[in-house]
Formats: sequence, C-alpha cells, structure tokens
Amino acid sequence: MRKDKDTLWEEACRHLEETLPKDIFEKWIAVIQCRSIEEGKVVLVVGNDFYQSWLVEHYLPLIRKALTAVSGNELQIDLTVDYSLISEQPEEKPEKRHSILSSRKPAETNLNKNYTFDSFVVGPSNQFAHAASMASAQSPSRAYNPLFIYGDVGLGKTHLMQAIGNFIHSKNSRGKVCYTTCESFVNEYIEALQTNSLAKFRKKYRTTDALLIDDIHFLAGKDRMQEEFFHTFNAIFENHKQIVMTSDRPAGELAGLAPRLVSRFEWGLVVELESPDVETRVAILRKKCEQLNLSIEQSLLFYIAERISSNIRRLEGALIRVASYVSLTGQAMDRSKLEYLLRDTLDQEQKHAVSIEGIQKLVAEHYDIRLGDLVGPKRPQNIAWPRQVAMYLSRTMTNQSFPVIGNAFGRNHATIVHACQLVERRQTEDLKLRQTLSLLRQRVSHSTQKAG
Ligand code: ADP
Ligand code: MG
Repeated sequence: MRKDKDTLWEEACRHLEETLPKDIFEKWIAVIQCRSIEEGKVVLVVGNDFYQSWLVEHYLPLIRKALTAVSGNELQIDLTVDYSLISEQPEEKPEKRHSILSSRKPAETNLNKNYTFDSFVVGPSNQFAHAASMASAQSPSRAYNPLFIYGDVGLGKTHLMQAIGNFIHSKNSRGKVCYTTCESFVNEYIEALQTNSLAKFRKKYRTTDALLIDDIHFLAGKDRMQEEFFHTFNAIFENHKQIVMTSDRPAGELAGLAPRLVSRFEWGLVVELESPDVETRVAILRKKCEQLNLSIEQSLLFYIAERISSNIRRLEGALIRVASYVSLTGQAMDRSKLEYLLRDTLDQEQKHAVSIEGIQKLVAEHYDIRLGDLVGPKRPQNIAWPRQVAMYLSRTMTNQSFPVIGNAFGRNHATIVHACQLVERRQTEDLKLRQTLSLLRQRVSHSTQKAG
C-alpha cells in the first residue's frame, strides 16, 4: 500500500532529523508543511519567502534525498509560500515539533488555534471591532447578529473572526462552529450542484450554531450564489444562531451585491478594522516576539513598526525575516542591514503611501478649482462634485478610515460614505467618469512614487 502524505513526510523528517544538527532541524525543517504528494510531485509550504529562499539555497538537496529514501522514488519538489502560515510557525521548543506537525490537521473545528482573543493586540484602530467580537463570542446570536467586520487586507479580520469561533468552541465544545472562506463556500456549493448533494450542503451550513464566513466580498457579482447564501442566512438567523462575516469593504460599497443581502448584512452591527497606529504596531511586534520566542532589540522593533504601517501580515513577515537573519548569522542587526533585508517590503509600503492631501491637490488641479475651496465649506455644484471625487479616491486609494477622511475634508463620516456611494454608482453608467477616475488614479500613483 502507498503511504499517505503525512506518513511519508514524517518519515522524511525523521531522516532529516538524524542528518541535521538539532537547532537547524527545528528552525528550518520543522516549519515546513507538506501539502500534497501526487504523481511524483511533492508540494511543501512555508510561511514566508525568506524561509523559501533559504531552504532552496541550503537544504533542498537534503530534503530531496530524504524523500527519495522514504518513498523509493525520485520526487519533484515544489517549495511554495503561504503567508497565512506565518502565525503557525512553531515556538522554538523541540518537544513541540510533533504537535506542530500534526496540529495542521483540523481537530474538532477547522479553526486556527493561534487566532484567539489572547493573541490579539487591542489598540484604537481595532478596539471597537474587538469589543463587538468579544460580545458576540460571549453571547452568540444575542449581542449582535449578524456581526459584520470589514477592513483592508492584513488588518486582522480573519484573526478576530476565528477568535470568536475559538471562544465559542472553548465554552461549548459540542456546539457546531463552522468557519469557511466565502470562496470555499462557493466551491462547495458548485460541487454540491454537480454531485446532486445539495441537501447535504444545506444541512451542513444551515444547522450550525455559529457560521463564520470569511471574505464575503467574494459573493459580489455571483447572483446564483447570493440566492443560496440568502437562504442560508435566513435559516441560521431564524434559528437564533450567530452569523459573523468579514469583508474588504462595507456591504453597501460592494458593487454587485443584491440589495436584500446588503440590508441583511447591516441588520446587526457593522465594525471596521483600521490601520493600527505605531504604538499598536510595536505592541503587535512585541507579542509576536513573545510567541515566537525571539529577542530583538526594542529600537529595531520601532524601526520596523514605523516603516510598515499598512498591513499587519507584512509587519510579521518583516519580523520573521529579521529574526531569521539574526539567528542564522549571529550578527547584530543595525539600521543599514535592516534596510537591506527589508528592501522589498519597504518598497511595497512606499507604493501604498498615497496621501489624502496629495489626492486633494491633484483633483483640485484637474478640475481647475482652488485647493482651499475643495476642502472648504462652500457647496456649489462645480466644487461639490470634484470634492466627492476626491473623497472617493481618498477612500479607495489610501488606507484611511471614513472618520480620518472626513477630518481631512472638514466633513463627517456619513458625508464621505455618501460621496463614495454616489461616485461608485455613477461610474457604472458613465464611461467618461471612469476614464477621468482612471486618469486621476494614475496621476496620484505617479506623484506618490516620485515623492517616495
Ligand atoms: P485579514 O484577514 O484582515 O487579511 P488576518 O486576520 O489574516 O488579516 O491578519 C494578518 C496577520 O496579522 C495574522 O497573522 C494576524 O494574527 C495578525 N494580526 C492582525 N491584527 C492583529 C492584532 N491586533 N494583534 C495581533 N496580531 C494581529
Ligand atoms: Mg483574511
């Protein structure tokens, strides 16, 4: 009988463990996850590109040798990166290795055990979302139903959502907590259609105690799927069970989402995750150092936190890169090494550093009005429209929240939401507007890159 992938990989690991020094094994091999072994090809996954390049440069031949020895075949190795693995990287405790290797198999739930409220750092950018999530976890379906969490990529949506699931599960291990990405939900539905097993699919999703659907924006434009989800939603809601959803933007801003879904998504509580301020970013880095058992100088943590602001996943990636470098080379880290090591990440950050002021200036120029008027109190149409365009671009091109954008325009949160909806709607009908927006976007990005 052929060995399954887990057995094969564990045997290969045992080989490698015999060949390699213990610390090397722990650092570089125990972090690898084996995704699949099929048709002579092994897919191995690590949590970031640093591990990937280091492994390819240094240990791939050994890994290949071990796999060949245990499988009896020459296997092709595909070593890829999955950033969602970062937070699953092991603590540096040898006795943990086996639990790490096997903890990837879903136990009673498919939740990532590391995503808990304990490991979530609370700051001004996320305290409302955190409090709402906590309340929903403590009194499922009674506090806020549905809970709708939105925010940009890498700001902790999945983490918070799974923390809710883990909490509910820890209080009631027999309760059924169902976590799924919207994409798998859609794929499963399609499969159920193909295999005539819709009844099973419906039973699975409609009889949970808590349904956590991640990245619901994936439903946009998929009418048939929305129809199915509408009924799933109603069934769970009517059973008084908890629904939590995450999205990259508010439901009302999702083009191609049926109005009846938009309105349902807003029935409960809608909360936003914003970009964390620098203090929160430092606190997150400290927490990760604790979890990963890393010791990095405080000044370097600040340096990293100051420069990487838009995405917490990227922040973690940078930390791991730095930590790996220090532990491998044994060299002390300094500013210039850090800059070199993080150059790609810092580049990406700069590209994203579009400012509201920059947008205001370019929009005022384009419509030939004064910047003072654009942000001033006057309301004539020849100013109001460019102002709304600038608000829309600020919302879609920067990482800033509605209140921050509101401040920059001397307007309130609702005015910005309204402007964004208006521009979004008009551009679906107005080709010329789409061209103008695209031109303005190009100018904004261009001016940002010049400045950066
Ligand atoms: P999203 O789903 O919004 O794209 P994730 O939830 O995947 O973001 O978060 C990205 C990474 O950042 C995860 O590893 C997560 O643990 C971490 N993270 C995000 N917010 C926090 C926080 N407040 N405290 C600690 N870690 C965080
Ligand atoms: Mg996510």
